[in-house]
Amino acid sequence: MAVEPLIHELSKPGRRAVRIPAPDVPETPLPQELLRDGLDWPEASEIDVIRHYTRLSQKNHAIDINTYPLGSCTMKYNPKINEAVARYPGFAGIHPLQDPATVQGALELMVELQEMLAEISGFAAVTLQPAAGAHGELTGVLIMRAYHRSRGDTGRTKILVPDSAHGTNPATAVMAGFEVVTIPSDARGNVDLEQIRVHAGPDTAGLMITNPNTLGLWDEHIAEVVRVVHEAGGLVYNDGANFNAILGIARPGDLGIDVMHYNLHKTFSTPHGGGGPGSGPVGVRADLAEFLPGPIVRRVDGDEPRYEWFQPARSVGRLHTFHGNFGMHVRAYCYIRMHGAAGLRLVSEDAVLNANYLLASLRDRFDVAYDRTCMHEFVLSGNRQKRNGVRTLDIAKRLLDFGLHPPTTYFPLIVPEAIMIEPTETESKESLDYLIAALRQIADEAEQTPEVVTGAPHRTEYKRLDEVAANRTLNLRWTRPVEPAPEAAAAD
Ligand SMILES: *Cc1c(COP(=O)(O)O)cnc(C)c1O
Repeated sequence: MAVEPLIHELSKPGRRAVRIPAPDVPETPLPQELLRDGLDWPEASEIDVIRHYTRLSQKNHAIDINTYPLGSCTMKYNPKINEAVARYPGFAGIHPLQDPATVQGALELMVELQEMLAEISGFAAVTLQPAAGAHGELTGVLIMRAYHRSRGDTGRTKILVPDSAHGTNPATAVMAGFEVVTIPSDARGNVDLEQIRVHAGPDTAGLMITNPNTLGLWDEHIAEVVRVVHEAGGLVYNDGANFNAILGIARPGDLGIDVMHYNLHKTFSTPHGGGGPGSGPVGVRADLAEFLPGPIVRRVDGDEPRYEWFQPARSVGRLHTFHGNFGMHVRAYCYIRMHGAAGLRLVSEDAVLNANYLLASLRDRFDVAYDRTCMHEFVLSGNRQKRNGVRTLDIAKRLLDFGLHPPTTYFPLIVPEAIMIEPTETESKESLDYLIAALRQIADEAEQTPEVVTGAPHRTEYKRLDEVAANRTLNLRWTRPVEPAPEAAAAD
C-alpha cells in the first residue's frame, strides 16, 4: 500500500530548499566546539518541505478550517489584520532591552492597551505581564495576599472557590499558599449565596468567582455575593475567561470586583492552542495598583507625551521576563481598535445570541444542565444518550466525522456527561445550522444505530487515540523507525 512519506524519508543527499550565495567576505571556520557530527538532517527541496508541512496541518483541526465550539475557550476567528500588524518591523524587530527612547511607539501601544482594558472592565490599573489566564490568576491572588499582609491582616488563609470553577482557580489558590473552600452551586447554577454567607469570615482572603460562570450563566446574586465577601474583609477575584459575553454591557469593576484577569487569546482574538503564547493581563481597583507586578509602562504628559517604565511602590515582583508577550498585546490592541466601543458590544451580543440559538435548537434532543437563558455558552448533558450506551466521549468523536471540532466535554465537573458548547460571534447562521444538524443526527444515531457513534470517528486520519498514554508519555519527537534485525527480516 502506498503510504505518505515522512520528511526524513523524502530526504535525498544534496537536495536543497535554499541556495546560499557564495560569500563576499573571507570565510571563517566556526568554532570547533559548536560543531556536532552525526546530526540526521533531512535534505529536501522547497516543494517537498512545503507539501510536508501543509499535509501535517491538514491532519489537525483549526479555527481556519471549521467551527470550533470549545466551551470556556472562546475559539473565535483571529482576524488576519492582527497578524499583519504584529509583523510590522517596528513591532516585530525591536528588543525589550532597547533604550525606551527608541521604542516610544511600542510603549504607547502598551499604555493605550492598558487604558482600553481598564475602561472596558471598570478597573483603575492593568498589568500586561502575565502570559495566560492561569498566570493572571496567580498574579491576582498574589496581589490579594500582598494587600492583606500590607494591612497586617495575616489570619486570612482561605479562598472560596465555587464548585463550577475551572481547575486553574483552586490550583492557583493553593500555589499562592491558601487553603481552598469549595462552595456548591445552587439549583439554578449560581454560586450558593447561603454557603458564601456561612463560609465568609475573618479567615477569608477572598473569593475567586467566574462570572458569567462556566455553566454559561450570569450569577443572579453577584452584587450580594460581592457585598458579603467584602463585609467579611475579603477581596473578590473575577476569572475573566468569559468576558466575551459582556463587553460593553457590564463592567466587573462596577460590580465591585477587585481583581480580574483577561484572556487576550479568548476575548480579544489573539491565537491560542498549542501552548501559546497567550496573554493574561490583570486589572485591579485603584488601591491595589501599587501591588501590581512591575515594571509597568506609563505616559508622562508634556508638550510631547513620553512613555517610561516605573516600579509600583509595593509590587509583588516580576512575573514574566521583560514585558509579557508583546506580540499578543499588538494583536489585541488591533482587535479592540478595529471594533471600537460599539463593535465590541456587538461582539458580545452576537456571541450570546448565537449560543441561545444553538441551545433553543438542541434542547429537545439533549438534556440541558440548567435550562435558563444562557450567556455566550451553555452546557448540555449526554445522560439521555448514555442510556443507549453512547457516552459524551462518543458524541465528541462522532462530531469529527462532520469536520467539526468537538465541544468541551466532562467540564464543568458538576454536570454528568457534560457537553459544553460555545459557538462564538464569528460563526454565521449557516455554520451554526450545520453544527445543529450534526448534533441532531448524532442524537438520532444514538437511538437507532448507536454503534455508528461508539465506533466513531470513521473518517479521520487517526481513529481513537490512547488519550491517557498521550497525556502521560507525551512524545513529540520524530525518531527514525528501527530497522528490523537481519534475522527478523529473514524470518518473514
Ligand atoms: C481558559 C480558562 C482559564 C485559564 O486560562 P488559560 O489562558 O488557559 O491559562 C481559567 N478559567 C476559565 C474559566 C477558563 O475558561
